Amino acid sequence: SETLLEVNDLKKHFTLGGGLFGRSGKVLKAVDGLSFTVDRGETLSLVGESGCGKSTVAKALMRLYRPTAGQVVLGGTRIDEMSDGALRPLRRRIQMVFQDPFSSLNPRMRVRAILAEPIRNFGLARNRADLDTRLAALMERVGLPRDALGRYPHEFSGGQRQRIGIARALAAEPDLIICDEAVSALDVSVKAQIVNLLCDLQKDLNLALLFISHDLAIVEHMTHRVAVMYLGKIVEIGPRRDLFLAPKHPYTQALLSAVPVPEPGAARTRIVLKGDVPSPIAPPSGCRFHTRCPHAFDRCRTEIPALDPVGRGHFAACHLNDIPSENGRSHLSSMA
Ligand code: SF4
Ligand code: MG
Repeated sequence: SETLLEVNDLKKHFTLGGGLFGRSGKVLKAVDGLSFTVDRGETLSLVGESGCGKSTVAKALMRLYRPTAGQVVLGGTRIDEMSDGALRPLRRRIQMVFQDPFSSLNPRMRVRAILAEPIRNFGLARNRADLDTRLAALMERVGLPRDALGRYPHEFSGGQRQRIGIARALAAEPDLIICDEAVSALDVSVKAQIVNLLCDLQKDLNLALLFISHDLAIVEHMTHRVAVMYLGKIVEIGPRRDLFLAPKHPYTQALLSAVPVPEPGAARTRIVLKGDVPSPIAPPSGCRFHTRCPHAFDRCRTEIPALDPVGRGHFAACHLNDIPSENGRSHLSSMA
């Protein structure tokens, strides 16, 4: 399969204001050395608690933020250093669906105008008739009636509005859609419908999805791979099945333990983490997870664990994975 997006050692640090000279000198390391790839037609889920840096990754990929360091390569072209002018023709290729379908759609524009905007901006329609054909096709793709084009966003439910948001992203004919908590604000049954819609689109159009969520349960049945983030870093990344069945990082294990299991009696033992996510302004030394990790030992406080291979295409950043299995640290192979 062909690599569509490559992110190499991406960093986004914010210097905080305040203090005598207008700067506190403090640096918020929202994203601190992230590397991952997304193949054409692949779904990668980026999962972690709020504040872990997921949305900052999305904004850096959309070039709403300039990265502090690192590379973003789209279809073989580095886009992180491009001028806005040079980037313009490539912008079409990455589109975003936002969390809040209420605030992300202009309330004064009819759906027709909302969807026509990207088609015009990127010069995709040959003429008026082609524009109309595209608009009708978009409505059908996202499961909305054609007469919805004449209505305003407030006339729709949250789920329908998210369908409009998806149609707007599709209008640009992207290769990759970033969904940032795109179903988090929706009711449970609507959530499933939108996730199913995204899955269908992904298959039919060979779209790549970067699915950002705080909720592992949502991605369990739709994603190809999962990357788990904690305090600006990926702590585990791997194929869905391996990550769900045999998570190798204690943080992933804790997140997974909260995911409901459909079969009765098969409940996972809940691992409750102590405390909140520490501030990314002063992250803990060594392994950033050590203040909350149920398995932390001395080395964890001083030495940063590397994201090392633990299986085929599966990587985890935890010192326990260095310990040979004869030592009996059986939690690494199973959390059941
Ligand atoms: Fe826990 Fe140590 Fe592994 Fe970090 S390196 S996850 S603190 S056991
Ligand atoms: Mg967020």
